[in-house]
Amino acid sequence: MSPSLLLYFNKCIASRYPIYPLLNEERSPMPLLGAHMSIAGGYYKAVRAAADLGMDCVQIFTKNNNQWKGKPLLDSDIKAFKDAIEETGIQAPCSHDSYLINLASPKDELWEKSTDAMIIELERAEALGLIGVVMHPGSFVESSEEKGLERIVKALNQVIRKTKGFDVEIWLEATAGQGTNLGHRFEHLQYIIENVKDSSRLGVCIDTCHIFAAGYALDTKKQYEKTMDEFDDLVGIDRIKSFHLNDSKKEFGSRVDRHEQIGDGFLGLKPFKHILNDPRFKDLPMYMETPKGETDGVAWDSVNLNKLRKMIKKTKK
Ligand SMILES: [Zn+2]
Ligand SMILES: [Zn+2]
Repeated sequence: MSPSLLLYFNKCIASRYPIYPLLNEERSPMPLLGAHMSIAGGYYKAVRAAADLGMDCVQIFTKNNNQWKGKPLLDSDIKAFKDAIEETGIQAPCSHDSYLINLASPKDELWEKSTDAMIIELERAEALGLIGVVMHPGSFVESSEEKGLERIVKALNQVIRKTKGFDVEIWLEATAGQGTNLGHRFEHLQYIIENVKDSSRLGVCIDTCHIFAAGYALDTKKQYEKTMDEFDDLVGIDRIKSFHLNDSKKEFGSRVDRHEQIGDGFLGLKPFKHILNDPRFKDLPMYMETPKGETDGVAWDSVNLNKLRKMIKKTKK
């Protein structure tokens, strides 16, 4: 049995999923679907939980996201995590950076602390074999957009230089633009990518809730295409390395970041349908960050995952 077939087989067992899709000639290539999962009890637990729910990919925090310091990453943690990845066939593991990091900070002390912390995020991600670290670009606080963006570029130059040779990528997250958060205009992402000296490891993570709240329409096919064309013109569609699939509790253009279950918020199902069936994104990992818990005894993650999978159109080869 080929290694990839074996992986798939393991995954089917792990997720109690039927094996037939592999044999189904009509099955189109599809994006990888997963979610942010908790690492409570060990990094490997996130992988196992994702596999148990039938996911293809997983996002984690590599340390407590509200603390600067993290427990040292032990060899045993790394081994258990990598073993779980291999056994379950979970793909495209990524992490999200700490919420404390602000590479746009006008305060030197916080800026330096943030830059150092970002390097540690990447070191931990690299050690675990993750493919990307999703990063909030930062908040300019009492300075200005321009100054904030300059600070981010300066920080990233340092971060990239100090992690030279790493495989793990840095994925700038498109934000909702709450307060003085940067990254809610595609121009911000364009500025950062164009001005960083070595942008070969820089990508973008598009969060559906965020860009909708930031004022980018996704509803009709026409609106969706216009938004993606705008991104393509400014940043380049190839820079999109991943998606966060979240519905929004807040209205279009509200610039407020509140995630809702898929299809239950102001986005509805249509935007997800466009993204899931866009051939440009067919191989990309897409992670949900929707509220956890259960509905009628079923995990919300399962409910959302099913909704998303159902929207993927099957095309004949
Ligand atoms: Zn997100
Ligand atoms: Zn968010």
